[in-house]
Amino acid sequence: MRAILPKTIITCAVTGNLTTIEQTPYLPVTPEQIADACLGAAESGAAVVHIHVRDPKTAKPSMQLEYYRDVIERIRAKNTQLVLNVTTGPGGRFVPSIEDPRVAGPGTTLIAPEKRVEHITALKPDIATLDLNTMNSGKEVVINTPRNVRIMAEIIRAAGSRPEIELFDSGDIAMMQDMLKDGALESPVLCSIVMGVKYGFQPSPETLLYARNLLPANATFTSIGIGRFAFPAVAQSYLAGGHVRVGLEDSVMIDKGKLAPSNAAMVEKARRILEDLGGQVATALEARDILGLSTRATANRRIA
Ligand SMILES: [Zn+2]
Repeated sequence: MRAILPKTIITCAVTGNLTTIEQTPYLPVTPEQIADACLGAAESGAAVVHIHVRDPKTAKPSMQLEYYRDVIERIRAKNTQLVLNVTTGPGGRFVPSIEDPRVAGPGTTLIAPEKRVEHITALKPDIATLDLNTMNSGKEVVINTPRNVRIMAEIIRAAGSRPEIELFDSGDIAMMQDMLKDGALESPVLCSIVMGVKYGFQPSPETLLYARNLLPANATFTSIGIGRFAFPAVAQSYLAGGHVRVGLEDSVMIDKGKLAPSNAAMVEKARRILEDLGGQVATALEARDILGLSTRATANRRIA
């Protein structure tokens, strides 16, 4: 059993890795656009922003430290409380070449685990995501081996950031349990149940409750719905005792056939859903308390 939470945290995932400017012209691409999208989302009620960066010239996903630093400095110049959640997802994709599947083909991003978290060590964000999935994802394969995720978890911990464990299928939860047992992760764990990535958890109330019931009783969780499941997942997560996430990383539509004009508009809709159901949206300061972040202060997590 889990009760509905007294305060619900809205996370906004403003740009992500896979959404393209061909899908929506409203996608933030430059560090300035990404920072502005985060600040706009915060004004609409997001307490946490989830950050990826892109090459400003090509709009393609990037792992450049300078872009991450630029985004964070621009946010912190105007908002010292917003909780910053930075991705470590890029660098985990493998596309086997057709002639020899042992050889990486075009589209492969797979790199050493240490490299995937260098920006976390440098910037020490409040939260760093940690993907536990090894799965088919569209036409590609995502590879996160038990060894590599432990290396990344250790570096995230050393940076003083809180890992947010991304769970794409039930086996990922089994790996999380093993990592809690051997101390690679600390309890209580913060995690996300991601539903609707092609070949991952299939989105439904049953999936969410099944996944939630596999989590440790003291885990804090956010449910994420991809594509047209984005807003149903807001209601489902709230009712199941979880927090919520929306944003252009997860979907480009705000209603059937209607592009979301901004990340802020998606946060507004999530907020409306929560409040119509009787929920209360957590402020950034309340989110810091809920997530155990409030007492830690460094250059990148100053609290006013
Ligand atoms: Zn992401």
